[in-house]
Amino acid sequence: MARRPLIAGNWKMHLNIQEAQQLAQNVVKSTIQANDRDVMIAPPFTSLSIVAETTKNSSVILAGQNCCWADKGAFTGEISPLMLKESGCSMVILGHSERRHIYGESNSIINKRLLGAMQLSLDPILCIGETLQEKESGQTMDVLELQIREGLRDVKVTEPAKLIIAYEPVWAIGTGKTASKEQAQDAHAFIRGILGKILEKNVASNIRILYGGSVNPENVDSLMAQLDIDGALVGGAALKAEMFDRIINFI
Ligand code: PEP
Repeated sequence: MARRPLIAGNWKMHLNIQEAQQLAQNVVKSTIQANDRDVMIAPPFTSLSIVAETTKNSSVILAGQNCCWADKGAFTGEISPLMLKESGCSMVILGHSERRHIYGESNSIINKRLLGAMQLSLDPILCIGETLQEKESGQTMDVLELQIREGLRDVKVTEPAKLIIAYEPVWAIGTGKTASKEQAQDAHAFIRGILGKILEKNVASNIRILYGGSVNPENVDSLMAQLDIDGALVGGAALKAEMFDRIINFI
């Protein structure tokens, strides 16, 4: 079974409601011909409802940028998986490097969020990736293995479509530096190998692994041609309708 590509745009803390609506309209147009791939966008929480309305008759998938593990309660500043579902989301980004490094989210807290999301059938994209210092000191594979093992602790996956991994080297996010296609492929193959040790083999071989880190119209085709690269998680270029259109329609 071939893995269906997924192009995901993370809008981070950008765009007002009107700009979000406009960009969502453009993403809908970009997906009209794209029948053999999935397209997901993660707007800021304030724009979820307008984007849900704008994308409702399209195949565009809506995602949250983070979520709590609990359905409701005293968690100031958080959003629950239930609230995301109510707002039209079916996926959620978890463990993004900005959550890990700016807000100090640990593997165990990310694991808690992930279990909470999965319990409500909100499909998570678990982001993992090494810092520049970890890369330069030869720790990349150890860091990735730990992030996967701890991030997926107690996680049971029977349907591969229900879990997505995004490999995002921290040094490549928003820097214009991309991992070479060979570096990215090596990391993805390694990640799939680890998944094979902790999940059933046929599940592991069908889980989608996205690459993220300065993906743009120039590098998307060669990245997507790699055996274990099943999609892209895109930050900066997802905010520009033309660039994201080209990325969605990678060859
Ligand atoms: C990201 O934030 O997940 C990301 C990959 O950003 P950029 O594409 O801007 O590097």
